[in-house]
Amino acid sequence: MISYWEQQYFTEYDFIIVGSGITGLSLAAEIKERKNSAKILVLEKGLLPTGASTKNAGFACFGSVSELAYDLKIMGEKALLELVNSRINGLVALRNRLGDINIDFQNNGGYELVLNDSSNNVLEKLPIINNLLYPIFNQNVFSEDSKAVSRFGFSTEKINSVIFNSFEGQIDTGLMMNSLINYVTNLGVKIITGALVENYSINNGQVSLNCQSSDGLNCHFVANKVAFCTNAFTKNIFPELTINPGRGQVLVTKPIENLKIKGTFSFDEGFYYFRNIHNRILFGGGRNVDFETENTTKFERNETIQLKLIDYLQSIILPNIDFAIDRQWAGIMAFGNDKSPIVKEIDNHIFIGARLNGMGVALGSNIAKQLADIMM
Ligand SMILES: Cc1cc2nc3c(=O)[nH]c(=O)nc-3n(C[C@H](O)[C@H](O)[C@H](O)COP(=O)(O)OP(=O)(O)OC[C@H]3O[C@@H](n4cnc5c(N)ncnc54)[C@H](O)[C@@H]3O)c2cc1C
Repeated sequence: MISYWEQQYFTEYDFIIVGSGITGLSLAAEIKERKNSAKILVLEKGLLPTGASTKNAGFACFGSVSELAYDLKIMGEKALLELVNSRINGLVALRNRLGDINIDFQNNGGYELVLNDSSNNVLEKLPIINNLLYPIFNQNVFSEDSKAVSRFGFSTEKINSVIFNSFEGQIDTGLMMNSLINYVTNLGVKIITGALVENYSINNGQVSLNCQSSDGLNCHFVANKVAFCTNAFTKNIFPELTINPGRGQVLVTKPIENLKIKGTFSFDEGFYYFRNIHNRILFGGGRNVDFETENTTKFERNETIQLKLIDYLQSIILPNIDFAIDRQWAGIMAFGNDKSPIVKEIDNHIFIGARLNGMGVALGSNIAKQLADIMM
């Protein structure tokens, strides 16, 4: 049983946020910025944030031509434009809140590789997607840059052309999350890690969260309002929601001398993505090679996909360049029937911001804004 002191000083709050990823921390920041006196607790099951926010590729992006063309078919024009706007607004909010230096934002541009054996005719879709996004940017976003294939040293046998997007950037994911934790801590938000929220109940207008720590302590935290920013793990508490976990495999090389590649790159409807970071290449994706196995919340490496990534590095991205792999890992995303996130009020006291799919770096801060709007 917890002590009198613990009960008096640690368990009662105005707002509790479950999950310390980019969405949960941005929500804590958003609430504090609007109401500095609010007493806020963030509960995190891992020792570190343990979902997608410290595992991702750090693209500050809103979609490639092939990805947006696919989403257009599924979601239609109106919903897709709303989603792209939400990604753009989220990136602006993240940069404004933390400052470009504190997330190492670099506007190096984004590129989509058009593979020779590509069956989805990306170049034909380019004008369609430019027309779609014209009202947002007042100019064409995407243009063909075929010279980029040799400029970056890619395989000219495997890559036909490249599509350039000057509006795309990149951040240092670890620096961003570290800065966000510092930002909310400085505002007086309390974060408790190693605290798994198992379920909740509502009594007399107060939410009580039943929480389990790794050392076996069982504790009830109480608040007026609770937000679950638990992305792929939200289904453990709300099984009725359409949320499918999607694991993403990533690797990073050791430093490569005279690396020519600079910017964010993707191919195959965004299923593969790579970028430069500290003279290395970070490369991730390949979920479409093994959808079934990757439909999981287990943080395991999928060797088949990791080998596929290495094969693509050798044959397409870094042909004739010696490289060594430094680190390989996995992170967990959340998907639905389309790319729309869930921002939802369950009743007056319980809120959900989840299912940020593969673009939560962009979406996270805007989802937090929308949540704060309905919670406050
Ligand atoms: C490999 C990979 C690459 C990606 N690349 C990009 C990219 O380049 N650009 C981009 O925009 N997006 C990218 N994403 C997506 C982006 O990282 C996510 O959409 C975003 O991080 C989701 O943030 P979140 O805070 O909603 O969820 P998460 O980061 O998953 O955070 C949820 C948190 O809740 C905690 N939690 C869950 N259940 C409980 C519970 N019951 N009790 C307590 N705590 C709990 C988890 O431990 C976790 O820390 C990528 C994702 C992956 C996996």
